[in-house]
Amino acid sequence: MSNRSITLEEKQQAFAELRSVKQLFAERGWFPGTSGNLSVRVGDFDAEQFHFAITASGKDKTIDTPSDFLLVDQTGQPSELTSLKPSAETLIHCEIYRLTGAGAIFHIHSVYNSIISEYFWERKSVPVDGVELIKAFNIWDEDAHIEIPIVSNFAHIPAIVPEVTDRIDSKIPGILLRKHGIYAWGANAFEAKRHLEAFEFLFEYVYKMELLQR
Ligand SMILES: [Zn+2]
Repeated sequence: MSNRSITLEEKQQAFAELRSVKQLFAERGWFPGTSGNLSVRVGDFDAEQFHFAITASGKDKTIDTPSDFLLVDQTGQPSELTSLKPSAETLIHCEIYRLTGAGAIFHIHSVYNSIISEYFWERKSVPVDGVELIKAFNIWDEDAHIEIPIVSNFAHIPAIVPEVTDRIDSKIPGILLRKHGIYAWGANAFEAKRHLEAFEFLFEYVYKMELLQR
């Protein structure tokens, strides 16, 4: 346990941010079957040492309880005495923070992100051409073309991490797990939410466009 650098206020602020994002996403049906997880980084960042607040594993995210969040370190271990368990997927949050220094990471499972990750699996990325919402990623080129990376989904989460390490694209603030869901991140909760919403819009757009073109 090594969270002495984090103040109570910082922790409470992170939990409050997670609670409001959790409520909003729950209203959208973005946590089916207790899936999904949200995290916000807290305190100073060093790629080798940092902390973040994350949703506890296995909770119904449509209801609020006093034990919805916990603080973990860069290895995904709780930084405080708690019986709460971080999700197994916490290790993916750890790796994204380590590589990007992001301030928040949101992970959801949706029908569109799951289908599109399978549809483009052999390509290993989802191509998107010239859609306005690409600007949500601060990519302003006219007719911008982006490729959203897709990595394998293994039951053993640590096996996914090396692919995340390999495939993260510094210009694209998100990565898809095959037939699983998306991880989207940003400098803070506001930006991570904007990116996630843009990804979900683009997945639905690409899906429907593919159908029309058949
Ligand atoms: Zn998941």
